Amino acid sequence: MSKSDDDSLRPATRLVQGGRRPEWTSDPRLGGGIVNPPVWRASTILYDNVADLKARGHATHDRLYYGRRGTPTVWALADALTDMEPGAEGTLLYPSGVAAISAGLLALLSPGDHLLMVDSVYEPTRAFCDGMLARLGVRTTYYDPLAGADIAALIEPATRLIFLESPGSLTFEVQDIAAITAVARERGVPTMLDNTWATPLLFPALAHGVDVAMMSLTKYVGGHSDVMMGSLTATRALWPKLRHAAYQLGQSVSPDDCAAVLRGLRTLDVRLARHGENALTVARWLADRAEVGRVLCPALPDDPGHAIWARDFAGTSGLFGFTLKGADDAARARFIDALEHFGIGYSWGGFESLVVTADPAKIRTATAWTEPDALVRLSIGLEDPADLIADLERGFAAL
Ligand SMILES: *Cc1c(COP(=O)(O)O)cnc(C)c1O
Repeated sequence: MSKSDDDSLRPATRLVQGGRRPEWTSDPRLGGGIVNPPVWRASTILYDNVADLKARGHATHDRLYYGRRGTPTVWALADALTDMEPGAEGTLLYPSGVAAISAGLLALLSPGDHLLMVDSVYEPTRAFCDGMLARLGVRTTYYDPLAGADIAALIEPATRLIFLESPGSLTFEVQDIAAITAVARERGVPTMLDNTWATPLLFPALAHGVDVAMMSLTKYVGGHSDVMMGSLTATRALWPKLRHAAYQLGQSVSPDDCAAVLRGLRTLDVRLARHGENALTVARWLADRAEVGRVLCPALPDDPGHAIWARDFAGTSGLFGFTLKGADDAARARFIDALEHFGIGYSWGGFESLVVTADPAKIRTATAWTEPDALVRLSIGLEDPADLIADLERGFAAL
């Protein structure tokens, strides 16, 4: 048990204390403890004798067995992430967010099964469903992100999983997760949510009825644009199945990377609050510009997803989109190329602001993306928002 297994502690306190178990941070023979779990790099684990070797053949998650099963650095990060999700049994770590998604889908689906996948999902998730899952005989039906309780009509006898992502990380529709998980529970179908946008600080997924919460730790949790990792955090019912599959798939993460992610995790609460505050300042400013068609940001009162967002989320993160009124591809490129403080790049959630083009119409299959104007996605970083606004002004001047 870590100190933070105390459920009465508030999330910011749990972030600071999570994973710092005495057995991972101290050694009485050395006369004390240190703040952070050290980086334990290991492939081989040495046993005392043959009896010890045999006894540890059935290793539990937190006994040294073989490098692939992790060391205390890895367990500390997993433990800290579990602490952030009330109701969670455990967390598994993967070398990227996409690896976590594909491992979760492979663990829970078999040939002949049917998957309900939200149409606004992150594109590589869709590629996995249409590619490898289809090859393995798993059928995917994409559903409207605004489906809510109507999802019941799409559940078939073979449906074994409903996958959600809210808000969609390109188009920012907010799903009615409570309505969907209620239907799913009633019909005995588990749910998995890509919670990268909110993290458990803004949306504790398991407490809202989700069975498996996925995150790309590459984004806000790592937070510094220098590490890739993904996680699945699950209820007691699904945890054994996910862990068993993870062991079979053999994906492991480096303890150095875990130390980097743990460092990011400690400051997630303050960073996310500032990302959100800055993003709101920029989003409100954009909403008043004549050149802007729509701002796709559920934290704004005019956004179609605002009511559900306000009901469910404790705040906003720093990722949102907006359309350039009447702009084509070339005008959008002029706008983006004129920006000096926004890096042009995929990913998001780091301390620095980023911008990318987004073209959802080409990706959708269940619902049409009818927004006529060119879409831009911003990841608002920790710069002073006044400098970011001045930069965006430069972009508008270049239009
Ligand atoms: C980036 C991202 C992922 C994938 O994470 P990687 O660590 O880049 O593999 C998954 N879901 C969403 C919403 C993302 O933005």
